[in-house]
Amino acid sequence: MSPALERVITALRDGDRWLITGHAHIDGDCLGSMLAVEWLLAKLGKKAFCVAPDELPRCLTFLPGADRLVKVDEIAEPFERVVVVDSELERTGPVYDLIKDKVIVNIDHHQSNVHGPGIRWVDPSAAATGELIFHLIEGMGFDPDEDCATCLYTALMSDTGGFRFSNTSADTLAIASRLVQQGASPAGIAEALYEERPFPYFILLGHVLSSISLDPSGRLAWSVLPGELIASQAIHPADLDGFVHYLRMIKGVEIAILFQGTLEGEVKVSLRSRKTVNVADLAAKLGGGGHPRAAGCTLSGSLDEIIPKVTALALSSL
Ligand code: 5GP
Ligand code: MN
Repeated sequence: MSPALERVITALRDGDRWLITGHAHIDGDCLGSMLAVEWLLAKLGKKAFCVAPDELPRCLTFLPGADRLVKVDEIAEPFERVVVVDSELERTGPVYDLIKDKVIVNIDHHQSNVHGPGIRWVDPSAAATGELIFHLIEGMGFDPDEDCATCLYTALMSDTGGFRFSNTSADTLAIASRLVQQGASPAGIAEALYEERPFPYFILLGHVLSSISLDPSGRLAWSVLPGELIASQAIHPADLDGFVHYLRMIKGVEIAILFQGTLEGEVKVSLRSRKTVNVADLAAKLGGGGHPRAAGCTLSGSLDEIIPKVTALALSSL
């Protein structure tokens, strides 16, 4: 057992009342890991509740325990300690002010999470934070029940794109196998995550696909989703996942970028790469972060200002 994991275990045993949270723009790894930590703390006889920094994507509402999530402005329970999963502390958005002075346990796999206060266990070799949570649960002598296994399998499946991305390791698949033995349903979870989207999703996907730009080398592709267009559709921005993946599928493309506007004058930039470029390094130059093949950042400004700046930076890294 690594010293970092041992420190996390000691901290979990020592605290009694816990708040659990993760990053804004919450995804399956983040929420699945949060709910599995809540399960573990309950097993240890602790009081614990999960707080999501923002709106939950609808495709994650099937997760056992998602209905117990507490909104930031509805926290009624006292807490002394905090677990932040799958995120740098600052990416917890509106939760950050509530937790910054508490004892914080930070469990993450983002390479950009390089320093910070509290008890840290950051391992970028893990495909998903859910892998670390599985090792934590096992390290404390428990077997996940069906609900917890469903949360952790969802975490692994989300961050590996359904066990397709290059981060998928033998350990990822061995853990997935254990989780299926514990009751997680591969087909049921894949169905919930990937096989159903509301109709407006496809209107917006149509816009993304018909607005693709390709640089003359054919190695950089980007597209755009204006905030006004998103607002004109009956869909929450939290439910717009996966668009950038289509851009990366174009033959010859190494870097794919989706620029997603908001009505608040910000642009959410999603970066993906195929084989060689480390887009986490690229995102870090823009104040964001992520993983070598999937990263992002949020920038202030208009699409017209931001697109030339980011595409020039991306081209220089090819
Ligand atoms: P997505 O493009 O799906 O929103 O994000 C891709 C990856 O980059 C995810 O692992 C996500 O956590 C990370 N990411 C996205 N935006 C940011 C950001 O602003 N800061 C950091 N550190 N990571 C980000
Ligand atoms: Mn993750």
